[in-house]
Amino acid sequence: MSLIPHNLQAIAATIVAAAQESGRPAASVQLLAVSKTFGADAVLEAVAAGQRAFGENYLQEGVDKIRAVQEAGATALEWHFIGPIQSNKTRPIAEHFDWVHTVEREKIAQRLSEQRPAGLAPLQICLQVNISGEASKSGVTPQELSALAHKVAALPNLTLRGLMAIPEPVEDYAQQRAAFAALRALYQQLRAEGLALDTLSMGMSADLRAAIVEGATIVRVGSAIFGSRNYHKA
Ligand SMILES: *Cc1c(COP(=O)(O)O)cnc(C)c1O
Repeated sequence: MSLIPHNLQAIAATIVAAAQESGRPAASVQLLAVSKTFGADAVLEAVAAGQRAFGENYLQEGVDKIRAVQEAGATALEWHFIGPIQSNKTRPIAEHFDWVHTVEREKIAQRLSEQRPAGLAPLQICLQVNISGEASKSGVTPQELSALAHKVAALPNLTLRGLMAIPEPVEDYAQQRAAFAALRALYQQLRAEGLALDTLSMGMSADLRAAIVEGATIVRVGSAIFGSRNYHKA
């Protein structure tokens, strides 16, 4: 078996084991294959192995890849935008993607809602939370999260699904879990405030297990599927 299907199988096994550890069905954890810097050929190889959801960080690269994959005949895929968003670049995101995980400002959410084409399903949204404090520049602070969440939930062409975080990378398993537990606590608080959230987007190649044990419903995995990235080639 070639590398990508082999890696997908190994990750599926990790998901099953970690979900079991947290007393949840494996089907409650969705694998988002992060294909940034890899070509349409790599995506198509993953599609042939049964993968349906893909994450992209860079807008032009992502839009080109979505087109190339569609032209190659792969349909019924789900595309998630997981990169930083510039406010003058929201339109192509609203037009080409199904999900956005990195909303951290009301203005960006408003633009995405206004620019979502009529006839497409609402754009599925996660708010990115800065869970590691000063170590990360991205994400809404936990203090500002609730106000932002209620505003985004009220926008017409978006569906607020949940929260996303990229904690500071640490090797210690207990520390990994602590960051994800903090995001889960914020998620539970918003649910207690009446927001109908169902998504915790957390965990990458290096901290997948900790994230699932703490309740991740989407894990975003790149290098463990596609191999290490060469940014110069991208
Ligand atoms: C690149 C990226 C990932 C995947 O990271 P790996 O360590 O390769 O699994 C996940 N989430 C975001 C937001 C990313 O930018």
